[in-house]
Amino acid sequence: MTAKDCLEKAAGSSLGELALQLEEDAGTPREDALRKLDSMLTVMEAEVEHACHLPVYSISGLTGGDAYRYDQYRKEGGSLLGEIPALAATYALSASETNAAMGRIVACPTAGSCGILPACVLAVAKVRGIPREKVLLALAGAGLIGELIDEHASLAGAQGGCQAECGSAAAMAAGAIVEMLGGKPEMAFHGAAMAIKNQLGLVCDPVAGLVEIPCIKRNVGGTAIALSAADLALAGVESRIPFDDVVEAMDRVGKALPAALRETAGGGLATTKAGLAMKEKVYGKTE
Ligand code: SF4
Repeated sequence: MTAKDCLEKAAGSSLGELALQLEEDAGTPREDALRKLDSMLTVMEAEVEHACHLPVYSISGLTGGDAYRYDQYRKEGGSLLGEIPALAATYALSASETNAAMGRIVACPTAGSCGILPACVLAVAKVRGIPREKVLLALAGAGLIGELIDEHASLAGAQGGCQAECGSAAAMAAGAIVEMLGGKPEMAFHGAAMAIKNQLGLVCDPVAGLVEIPCIKRNVGGTAIALSAADLALAGVESRIPFDDVVEAMDRVGKALPAALRETAGGGLATTKAGLAMKEKVYGKTE
């Protein structure tokens, strides 16, 4: 299935409703799908707050405490960002730090990119007062966007670089925001396409092979990209390259990335002086 097929099927409906319909066609009743989404949403609500109230550190000791630090700064009114982007940044840091500390998160689509979707959806829902039922539909729509990327490209950093993880998460989040704020399915796909376009070619280069650096802060960047892409789409701005073509390009770009930049920690930030020093701190001298 492609986004083009989805748009034909979704005529007069929303992306979230179409996602639930497709689930039903595949044998999962609407109520069961909504119950599953509701339990995921409950985990998301906890993970976006978990590292805000007290500093949380990763098992490796390389990262942590930034969600707490940023949340204090945000609450003191120091943020350059508006209310929604600043709250989304806090939430993304919290979810990602919770993941790095081996806490409970929803991989959406992966653990490394787990902060982007819940941060965007919950920040928008909180500030705009969006009811829970609408948030669940938005998550259903996000899931459909993720499925399309999985079918035509990849959701794994080891296969497609970080564009496949943080890029896909931002696309899912952009689509979810558009859905939540009443945009048409076409707009959701334009938002998703614009989010991917801004991360096309992003490499996967985790320091010491751990999902911490640069992953945690890339989740914050992903929220900014998702929010701006959704905002453009809601304003009626269209992606000149359609979603299906963007995903096809993402697949080609991912396959063209050298192995060193696909989660092997063999290049990029992982092999900087600082990156190698942190690796040695975690594992000791390996050569
Ligand atoms: S850098 Fe690699 S491991 Fe980290 S979030 Fe991106 S794809 Fe995942």
